Amino acid sequence: MPTTDHKFHLENTYKNLPASFYSFQSPVPVAAPKTVLYNEKLADTLGLNFQTSIAEYLSGNQLIAGAQPLAQAYAGHQFGHFTMLGDGRAILLGEQVTPDQKRVDIQLKGAGRTPYSRQGDGRATLYSMLREYLISEAMHHLGIPTTRSLAVVATGEKVFRGEHHDGAILTRVAGSHLRVGTFEYARNVRTLEELQALIDYTIDRHYPDLKNAENPTLGLLETVMDQQIDLIVDWMRVGFIHGVMNTDNMSIAGETIDYGPCAFMNAYDPKTVFSSIDTQGRYAYGNQPNIALWNIVAFANALLPLIADDEDQSIEKAQKVIDGFKAKFSQKWTQMMFGKLGLRQVEDKDKSLVDRLLALMEKYKADYTQTFLALHEDRDLDTPLFQAEDFKQWKEDWHRFSPDKSWMKKYNPNIIPRNHWVENALNSAVEGDMQPFNELMERLSQPYGEHPEGVRFEVMDGGIDSGYQTFC
Ligand code: AMP
Ligand code: MG
Ligand code: MG
Repeated sequence: MPTTDHKFHLENTYKNLPASFYSFQSPVPVAAPKTVLYNEKLADTLGLNFQTSIAEYLSGNQLIAGAQPLAQAYAGHQFGHFTMLGDGRAILLGEQVTPDQKRVDIQLKGAGRTPYSRQGDGRATLYSMLREYLISEAMHHLGIPTTRSLAVVATGEKVFRGEHHDGAILTRVAGSHLRVGTFEYARNVRTLEELQALIDYTIDRHYPDLKNAENPTLGLLETVMDQQIDLIVDWMRVGFIHGVMNTDNMSIAGETIDYGPCAFMNAYDPKTVFSSIDTQGRYAYGNQPNIALWNIVAFANALLPLIADDEDQSIEKAQKVIDGFKAKFSQKWTQMMFGKLGLRQVEDKDKSLVDRLLALMEKYKADYTQTFLALHEDRDLDTPLFQAEDFKQWKEDWHRFSPDKSWMKKYNPNIIPRNHWVENALNSAVEGDMQPFNELMERLSQPYGEHPEGVRFEVMDGGIDSGYQTFC
């Protein structure tokens, strides 16, 4: 088998970090790798061109020349509690430098046990890897920063999760896998020299402009915060609920990462939660901005000793940055909501128009995506919201602002990954029928494009999401 047919030329800058940040670890070979999905378009942008043996390479059974596989060490706050973590089932093969000179991690998820695995088997189910592929790619097509999915390879082995399931490995492509939790690891478990090395590495890799900043560490805090704000605003725009915003799942590269219990909201309700383990609603749709701030505070705490020599000064400087979160978020969120309503000539005081609409949507349990679409298309729906007098009044008020319909278009997807579509596609896929999955993926790859009426305005049974549960 030729080893040159894929055009991978992997580098590995991560291993230049102090050795405590990783453990060299090869993927554990699998019994019978078989390619289930291969993302050719993404491969093109990465400069890859697999002719043969995709399954061999992207299961880890055959090592790509130049790969120096490793598992990353990190910690994190899970549901508010600090804990040691690390890649328990993911292995970084290396970094691919793309034809347009971007550096991206190539990681195999579900590639076997690592020194950080503790209890787990190091494996993943086909179902959950297909789910990550579908939703991460849908997010990308929605225009939202995210890790990408290059392939899903079935392992030919079973994975036990209460019962036996088919196993699979996902090839995840990411700007990097640096997380808030990586910094918490350095800060709480390692030395200040190691923390400094991590900061330098991060600035070098992601934010080289900060090298010239007066205080690069403080600059890193602010830059990461600003990116998170943009990201969460984008999630809110499309009704995305991440589901497990632990600090180890917050990317320093500003991408959506770790697609476990995530799902999209149908009926608008800020309290919406789908994750089976999020019993307190910590990661509910409407709580995501608060949690992003919580995580940024954790990030600031990790950076604190290197912001200034004097502790009080450090705290003061970090606090000043963090104090900006709420105003910045509110400003960006309001602009986004104005965008969804096509309002260009508005002032802050017009924000009540947004608040009123959201309150009405919640009151009448209106579908989030369809409501904005219907407004965009100037149509009335046969739903409680559209029949309600208070909503009709709202609409009149809205029309007075002469909404710009072409402006609205780019804020409002025509379709999102509806939970029942996702489940249908995945259930068929694990039974061996990929057609529904491929059809759905095709649709989701043009969320702002043309879609049949019945797809855009499929009648959403009020109970369609009740009882819907997702898992890590
Ligand atoms: P997550 O909730 O997906 O962010 O994962 C939390 C931690 O559990 C991470 O350190 C994962 O690597 C680890 N983990 C998840 N699934 C497994 C598994 N099957 N085997 C070993 N470790 C795992
Ligand atoms: Mg994770
Ligand atoms: Mg996960």
